[in-house]
Amino acid sequence: MADLLPEATRRWQHIEATALAHFQRAGLAEIRTPLLEATALFARGIGEATDVVGKEMYSFLDRGERSCTLRPEGTASVVRAAIQHGLLAQGSQRLWYGGPMFRYERPQAGRLRQFHQLGVEYLGYADPFTDAEAIAVAWDLLGALGISGLELELNSLGTSADRARYRKILMAWLGERRGGLDEDSRTRLATNPLRILDSKDPGTRALLRDAPSLADALSEESCQRFAAVRQALTALDIPFRLEAGLVRGLDYYNHTAFEITSNQLGAQATVCGGGRYDGLVEQLGGPATACVGWAMGMERLVLLLTRQEEERKAVAPHLDGAPQCYLVSRPGRAALQALALSRSLRARGLAVERDVSGSTLAKQFRRADRSGATWVITIGEAEAEACTARLRHLRRDGVEREFAQGQLPDQLLALVRD
Ligand code: ATP
Ligand code: MG
Repeated sequence: MADLLPEATRRWQHIEATALAHFQRAGLAEIRTPLLEATALFARGIGEATDVVGKEMYSFLDRGERSCTLRPEGTASVVRAAIQHGLLAQGSQRLWYGGPMFRYERPQAGRLRQFHQLGVEYLGYADPFTDAEAIAVAWDLLGALGISGLELELNSLGTSADRARYRKILMAWLGERRGGLDEDSRTRLATNPLRILDSKDPGTRALLRDAPSLADALSEESCQRFAAVRQALTALDIPFRLEAGLVRGLDYYNHTAFEITSNQLGAQATVCGGGRYDGLVEQLGGPATACVGWAMGMERLVLLLTRQEEERKAVAPHLDGAPQCYLVSRPGRAALQALALSRSLRARGLAVERDVSGSTLAKQFRRADRSGATWVITIGEAEAEACTARLRHLRRDGVEREFAQGQLPDQLLALVRD
């Protein structure tokens, strides 16, 4: 659990203020629920078979011998409050919430035991276009914060009938290949086979490549619904990637499931996760209510913003027109690699000039000097063969270092920051 010191809180306040204005424009109203709830709420609302309920909750008996839990997420509490106060009888509700959540996890970058979420819940919305609207609210908030390099992964879980049909097909298929599964997945085969689809075990993942897909088991109606969500996202110009492994193995999650990920967060890549949960309100004792929502991790937002700000700062002195690095290469294959490398360097915020003269390396080096660039990157024949590039500072010592082309942007950014 982390302290937030003044330097950090400024960044948090910026995110919170941006989100508040963004949510207000989207017609969302804030709801605040207690940090502490009856344990049974989460057991029923998230599911006994999940990691969150099974292994991650901070639960204890209070002085009245009641089992209480520090909330591990927001949706169950929001739905409980909506039912308890009869909000749903007043019509559909568009709500947002924010605040600390608690999970007993192994702490690492982007994963804490007290972390913070911003979340949105649309209660009483069955229309597939609402799924796209909810996703757009998340996508555009990330855009408003200036976060780039994100990817939207999308899947449809269909209805519980679709999944029951698929579960049988999958269990039969995996049952015949039990030996190829990791231990966790073998346990799940009996309890929660759909969760095997998002296993991180390499062996299991390889096996799953040929597994029957849930998409093929969806009913005609579910397919049409999913098509409408995709159509709306396309109309909104929000790019997405279909990801068959994206599942939430619970009966009250259905149809749309999505995650927004970043390639700059390492193993904790998911910034935002959500989807439809038409069965949850009923599960918690309310009237049947179609719902869709998502939650975003504040700490991961802060990590992304900090990283991108550092990169921008690092390149700022070079916005005067001079390139930051100059790429020199032999023609042909090496030039093609230089072209690709210059593109990925630019994507990371660096100002890059690539020599296109086709002249000798010696002449290209002279032009590199005159360009005002700080770094020169060279891809000759030998480097092209090895998929590497040589990097040298043009003003400090002349030490040249060789890196794999894929690693060069990271290495260079680290050097630029020093
Ligand atoms: P993960 O796969 O990273 O464990 P999750 O599926 O458990 O995520 P959700 O319950 O969908 O996450 O929560 C939504 C978001 O909250 C996540 O995408 C992430 O940004 C954030 N989040 C979840 N757990 C943590 C944590 N322990 N520390 C920091 N952020 C978290
Ligand atoms: Mg988790």
